[in-house]
Amino acid sequence: MREDPGSSAPSQGPAASSRAVGGEGVLHPAASSAVRPRRVVTDRRGGRSVSPYDSFNLGSHVGDDPVAVAANRERLARELGVPADRLVWMDQVHGTRVAVVDGPVEGPLEGTDAVVTRTPGLVLCALVADCVPVLLADATAGVVAAVHAGREGVRAGVVPAALAAMAELGSRSADVTALLGPAVCGACYEVPRAMQVEVARVAPAAAVRTRRGTQGLDLRAGLAGVLRGAGVGQVVHDPRCTVEDRFLFSHRRDGVTGRQAGLVWLG
Ligand SMILES: [Zn+2]
Repeated sequence: MREDPGSSAPSQGPAASSRAVGGEGVLHPAASSAVRPRRVVTDRRGGRSVSPYDSFNLGSHVGDDPVAVAANRERLARELGVPADRLVWMDQVHGTRVAVVDGPVEGPLEGTDAVVTRTPGLVLCALVADCVPVLLADATAGVVAAVHAGREGVRAGVVPAALAAMAELGSRSADVTALLGPAVCGACYEVPRAMQVEVARVAPAAAVRTRRGTQGLDLRAGLAGVLRGAGVGQVVHDPRCTVEDRFLFSHRRDGVTGRQAGLVWLG
């Protein structure tokens, strides 16, 4: 796991490794805040699942042994120092539905791709294996959000939808910091031209050339533009490419595989 530099590292198990993910100080919350936003991205090491989900798979919808997934989630909770029922999971559908939660949730939030809270200790989880985990935090208002943003989510506007839900809880976009987690990079993500055009209509910076010189999408570049356009104060990238980094799950590379998670909470 990696935790962003604005947070102190949780207890470090054998699977955990911490590394700075952005500019030092960028994610430090305002001094006035009683609680601090914390953000962690997991990788595939240190879990119980066997191939092709090896090994720290957190997705319960990908065909893995439910016992292994439950053990992995238990371990995640233990390493974060929270009870397992404080992990909030989504049944993600590449849509724009945003859920606002204020307490533990039984089972995954149905048909949801963004979850928002201002309740300390609730760990919001976005599952990914090439899509972008977008971890938003407003330390001043004490509001956080986890968003699952793939090509379809970017096109449909799931991130602006999450920002709007945060605003309803008192967040100002200038006070929001965003961490864009590991995802397929623009050099690897080849798409048909029509698809590139569709996404570029809402996120122009996403349109790039791949390593092979064909039409590509850099979803993180596109999202960074969308976030800045919405007035978000800081956007930090975790530059790892899921396709190129063997420590990360990649659906595009491996087909049937597990999911890592981007996590955000008020600690
Ligand atoms: Zn790549």
